Amino acid sequence: MLTLIQNASVYDPEPRGVLDVLVAGSKIAAVGENLGKDLGIRGELLSVIDADGGILMPGIVDVLTHPSGGGGEGGFGNRTAAVGFEEFRDAGITCPVGALGTDSVGRSLDVLFADVMALRDNGIDAHMLTGAYRVPPPTITGDVARDITLIEPVIGIGELAISDHRSSQATPDELRRIAADARLGGTLSGKRGVVLVHVGDAGSGLAPLRKALENSALPVRSFYPTHVNRRRELLNEAAGFARDGGFIDITVSTTPELLELGEVAARDALQEAIAAGAPAERISLSSDAGGSLPVFHDGELAGFSSASPRVLLELVLDVLAREAEFAPLVIAALTRNPAAAVGLANKGRIAVGADADIVVLNLDQPAPSHVLCKGRRLRGD
Ligand code: ZN
Repeated sequence: MLTLIQNASVYDPEPRGVLDVLVAGSKIAAVGENLGKDLGIRGELLSVIDADGGILMPGIVDVLTHPSGGGGEGGFGNRTAAVGFEEFRDAGITCPVGALGTDSVGRSLDVLFADVMALRDNGIDAHMLTGAYRVPPPTITGDVARDITLIEPVIGIGELAISDHRSSQATPDELRRIAADARLGGTLSGKRGVVLVHVGDAGSGLAPLRKALENSALPVRSFYPTHVNRRRELLNEAAGFARDGGFIDITVSTTPELLELGEVAARDALQEAIAAGAPAERISLSSDAGGSLPVFHDGELAGFSSASPRVLLELVLDVLAREAEFAPLVIAALTRNPAAAVGLANKGRIAVGADADIVVLNLDQPAPSHVLCKGRRLRGD
């Protein structure tokens, strides 16, 4: 089955102008001008989508999501709800990477695996991480390397917590050992085997990762720190980590109170990290969808709400509408860069041979007009 998307303003993620994109099966088969003319195929073999001048970009690769829900750090009543197929689809996220988080007691990797497979059954190309905040990490098979090697959707481990009162206060030796196990699993199975690291509020910042990497044979990109925009000082430290070859991840979900407490808004954080010397191609943006967000009343913690997967698309639409020159950087940070960070080489690009994960946007509509994942049409006629 062939699908031709015509008349789209293509960001691959660089802006390429108005082009057509031809999808064959699960892959992108051609990108160019007026592809329809030369095809010579009609009828039931070819379905045509008129993008009507809309923006066409790769499906979003969201490296930190909680499909089974998260939270629980304020008691059982603060557990957050699962994030389902429609929410990811309508947010343009075709490749969410699911993780546990703080709670690996009331939630399990078995349930996360089932939720990831349910997303796949519905057409979303979800992946997952083994482990959680804690050390030693919970696993499915009893071993990090075995999970990554033997279980196809498992592409790494995380979000493993450092510099946080809820973390296991892992030693550099423990972090090094986990990264080595993840890397071995990745090596055996052709995956990256990355360690996605939740960086908390504590002043130690990325120091535990630096210590774990010291005098080790591990490359700096073994660790992939997230939430690096929670303080400006941490953001600058993360820019240095990216300068040294690492990937860093900025969390887009936030609240006005968190921004008041010193968190740097994602759009500004991206610009500031680049200004501080981080190579743009090693910065990603993620939603933390399903994770808990603190709610304050009169300066007091009053409970938790839950992060929405929609924040990424809202950021893209806002940037496209108000500062289009910045849009390619944002789109790359949502697609090509995170795909490279976790080693999903076929994702995050509009290019011949890449997975046909495609989102078509119209600036005046809050949801994509079309979403395709591996060529399957999930949204739009
Ligand atoms: Zn986290």
